[in-house]
Amino acid sequence: MATDVSREQLLSELYSKIKKCSKCSELVAYRKQAVPGVGNPKAEIMFVGEAPGADEDRQGFPFVGKAGQLLNRLLEKIGLHRDDVYIANILKCRPPENREPQPVEIDNCREYLHAQITLIRPRLICTLGNPALKTLIDPSLTIGKVHGQVLRKNGLVFFPIYHPAAALHQGKTLNELVGDFEALQKYIRTEIS
Ligand code: URA
Repeated sequence: MATDVSREQLLSELYSKIKKCSKCSELVAYRKQAVPGVGNPKAEIMFVGEAPGADEDRQGFPFVGKAGQLLNRLLEKIGLHRDDVYIANILKCRPPENREPQPVEIDNCREYLHAQITLIRPRLICTLGNPALKTLIDPSLTIGKVHGQVLRKNGLVFFPIYHPAAALHQGKTLNELVGDFEALQKYIRTEIS
């Protein structure tokens, strides 16, 4: 098992590899920089979104724009800070005009997300929105049907929730997201802390 020092070291080596990645030529040509991930290397809870947007591409960290600010508020509401958790995306590079990740791009980037999960060893992975749900758990699932439920696969425990960006302009989705965070808080209290 990796010690905590080597875990940080291995994460930083992984970040260097991601920053130099040139597998998706369209994304490489478009990105300002790759956005590997951020947070506590010993986090028990990991969040996985879709792909960096313009703010993330500029700053080099996931969820630093409007959706990220909402994520921060939702975390604080349940007594967590973003430094307590680990945050990553299924794609490490911003797709042109924020278009949907293509299957080949998701496949190219899969090894990096799996390496992050293996190094962090979170006890719970919260997928944000459909692309992360379908990539990590099952392509036949949809977020509207399974959000707020604990799902298990290959020894990992998942908690799918709506993507915060989807809740920015829709009161109904925001209410669902708030409800999911309350359910998440209950799960953490009973199963993690
Ligand atoms: N949306 C995502 O899915 N990821 C980010 O990092 C920012 C917005």
